[in-house]
Amino acid sequence: MNSRYFTEEHELFRKSFREFLQKEVVPHIDKWEKTGTIERFIWEKFGEMGYFGLNYPEQYGGLDLDIFYTVIFLEELQKINSGGFAAAMWAHAYLAMTHVAKEGDEAIKEKYLTASISGEKIGCLCISEPSGGSDVAGMRTTAVKKGDKYVINGSKTFITNGVYSDYLVVAAKTNPELKAKGMSIFIVDRDTPGISATKLDKLGWRASDTAEIAFDNVEIPVSNLMGEEGKGFPYIMQHFAFERLIMGINAHARAEFALDYTLQYMKEREAFGTTIDKFQALRHTYADMASEVEMAKEFNYSIAERMHRGVYVVKEASMSKLLSTKIADEVIYKCLQFLGGYGYMEDYPLARLLRDSRLGPIGGGTSEILREIIAKMLIDGKEYKPAAK
Ligand SMILES: Cc1cc2nc3c(=O)[nH]c(=O)nc-3n(C[C@H](O)[C@H](O)[C@H](O)COP(=O)(O)OP(=O)(O)OC[C@H]3O[C@@H](n4cnc5c(N)ncnc54)[C@H](O)[C@@H]3O)c2cc1C
Repeated sequence: MNSRYFTEEHELFRKSFREFLQKEVVPHIDKWEKTGTIERFIWEKFGEMGYFGLNYPEQYGGLDLDIFYTVIFLEELQKINSGGFAAAMWAHAYLAMTHVAKEGDEAIKEKYLTASISGEKIGCLCISEPSGGSDVAGMRTTAVKKGDKYVINGSKTFITNGVYSDYLVVAAKTNPELKAKGMSIFIVDRDTPGISATKLDKLGWRASDTAEIAFDNVEIPVSNLMGEEGKGFPYIMQHFAFERLIMGINAHARAEFALDYTLQYMKEREAFGTTIDKFQALRHTYADMASEVEMAKEFNYSIAERMHRGVYVVKEASMSKLLSTKIADEVIYKCLQFLGGYGYMEDYPLARLLRDSRLGPIGGGTSEILREIIAKMLIDGKEYKPAAK
């Protein structure tokens, strides 16, 4: 236990969540990895246990706990080795729901946040488009106001929970000429006419559903606008800091899982009359990897703590994701090597871990985009400010 950030209550929560995952989730993971569909009952169980409401207000059924409960939630999800299952859960709880909680008005929060916390409604966040994900300001989806409705046209892609979610948080241009300043955020019910979703096949994250979504004259009431019209871009950028820290934390946790598993394997596997944990080449590589992961973890905890105090950690969260995902990929690649041929087998955890980890430097802002942000801040003195709601 790192007592600088975690209390005994935190550790009790970690223990009970870990037990819950082992009992309720792990027995189903292989099936969900194959079908790409996470059954509804587990969403409801997460809701019943309060896991979707850790950081949300009690008024809507949340627990209003500090950020380190969220850190534990993310870390333990990585340690059951299904990046797809973890992504489905945290994309709902922290991508879609963050927008609902921060930009939704009372009526939206009563309707969607409460049902999201209880696990009755699943959400997804629709920003990336087939024409480009990195260039958020260049998005083409439009929402045109007509009387008391907005009419949405366009398409989104690579959307986590894009097929099975009940509502969609959608970014669209309300004033395309203004580019980034003409973007707004909406909440859209899945069963609204004109929405169609196609499931995508992918390298990893196989338990999660990832979709391309088309919006064909989708009419929604003006009351489904979240926050102010034209403020969508700053809202998205603001929450990206949290998403990037989440992905940094996920990365150090899955690297730690790889190291723990590999060490156990090294102590049992024999070659040349000794266990392989006695070979210096492996020992030193292991020591290097463990040092890097420890550094990333400490950095990520310190950023989480600053975020909890309200510091706007754009640069640090970008650094967290950039480096932690790189370290995780390298560690997992090397750990697979330590297992020899078994590392390549689906019966051993490293194969899935390797393909799931590869998404780290891509989703939620690629490493190249993160380097751009960090360079602009460090070299050009650019400052980013949070969007005032
Ligand atoms: C499994 C999965 C789940 C996802 N879930 C979601 C989700 O729930 N919601 C959502 O909105 N999106 C989601 N995404 C989309 C993800 O965020 C995008 O894939 C990512 O932002 C990159 O966008 P792109 O794929 O269009 O790549 P592009 O933007 O086309 O980039 C292609 C390449 O060019 C590089 N590049 C682009 N611009 C620059 C530049 N200025 N300088 C240097 N290099 C540059 C990129 O780094 C990349 O290497 C998901 C993606 C995947 C694969």
